[in-house]
Amino acid sequence: MVRRVSILGATGSIGQNTIDLIRRAPLDYDVVALTGAGNIGQLARDAIELKADIAVTARDDLLDDLRAALKGSGVQAAAGATAICEAAARPADWIMSAIVGAAGLAPGLAALRHGTTLALANKESLVCAGALMLETAQTHGARILPVDSEHSAIFQALIGEDAAAVERIIITASGGAFRDWPLEKLAEATLAQASSHPNWDMGQRITIDSASMFNKAMEVIETHEFFAIQPDQIEVLVHPQSMIHALVGFHDGALMAHVGPADMRHAIGFALHYPQRRHLPVERLDLAAIGQFEFRTPDEQRWPALRLARETIAAGGMTGTVFNAAKETALDGFIAGRVGFTAMADVVAQTLEDKTASDGLIGATMTLDNVLRVDHLARKAAKAAIDKRAG
Ligand code: NDP
Ligand code: MG
Repeated sequence: MVRRVSILGATGSIGQNTIDLIRRAPLDYDVVALTGAGNIGQLARDAIELKADIAVTARDDLLDDLRAALKGSGVQAAAGATAICEAAARPADWIMSAIVGAAGLAPGLAALRHGTTLALANKESLVCAGALMLETAQTHGARILPVDSEHSAIFQALIGEDAAAVERIIITASGGAFRDWPLEKLAEATLAQASSHPNWDMGQRITIDSASMFNKAMEVIETHEFFAIQPDQIEVLVHPQSMIHALVGFHDGALMAHVGPADMRHAIGFALHYPQRRHLPVERLDLAAIGQFEFRTPDEQRWPALRLARETIAAGGMTGTVFNAAKETALDGFIAGRVGFTAMADVVAQTLEDKTASDGLIGATMTLDNVLRVDHLARKAAKAAIDKRAG
């Protein structure tokens, strides 16, 4: 059966890996919508090759460029945040949510309202509005399948298991670019150094978040939201080889581990074919050649982001929205050269403490409007914290 698919964030790292899988079996898929932002050339090329109905850029100012690139192809062009939500709402059987940042929330919700299967790479939408995402899926008979490698691993380890028998979940972290750096050098880490990952080839933002452990901090929140498990049951383990992605521990002491190559096409392909398992073009691990797996407890002094994530879960309500917005703003600051590497965690901590970051909305009903309002206020508070630090 031909399946209708859309890819939100098609021009990014996850989007391109998704296209790689779809391209291998073009007759199986009817591509509805592809979305991107600045990379018009890639967006147009892929939309034409995959015969998408529509290509959408988030950037209004690039609509003419997109139109020109699609001219004569029969693919429609559109631009802007609203157009992305409209594209996400077009009927499709499977939609990949791979926009980076909180910008992925509204399109993800628009897709869920149409009862689709949403393959969720955009972890920010679970961190900033987990309850709203899950409730929207439930109300509209939609399904969310995790694409983040750790959460795909947990999901796979839980198949056929009794969720009530789960004692703990362990997610692994490579440790990122600065795993073995001396602590005192971290503050001086440069953008170029933070943008290179030892094991994974990913977008720049998540690569930097891996070095600061903010990526893992987000994933702790994501695990709590998606699997309804308490923070004291979630452990983070540094595992430099990035081959065991997560482990689920049960009441009888058993640990079910998911082992696979550091290639996102595994988790993407699992979500694409679920509930079947199909052949995927990923490396087959030669365990004898690998020899050994290492594990370490993460040093919370090196990576304060992990503590901030646990505090965020404990505070509840829309604190996750503040956490995510502050993290995105601090990361923007680091990329722009205004915030030092270790100062990113200080900016997030200060924003979490700042009452103006939520204007008393932390405990309010989680609607999209409220989330966007808190997101806006938290970004403002984080910017103020950055300005103050810059003096
Ligand atoms: P990239 O930066 O590579 O790609 C991001 C995508 O989002 C691009 O298509 C980009 O368009 C688009 N985009 C950027 N800004 C906006 C905006 N304001 N509105 C709409 N679209 C926008 O990111 P990744 O692919 O690395 O990550 C995507 C998501 O998946 C993130 O949430 C990340 O945390 C998550 N993830 C990624 C993993 C990975 O291996 N990369 C692993 C696990 C999770 P353009 O490029 O055209 O500007
Ligand atoms: Mg991950």
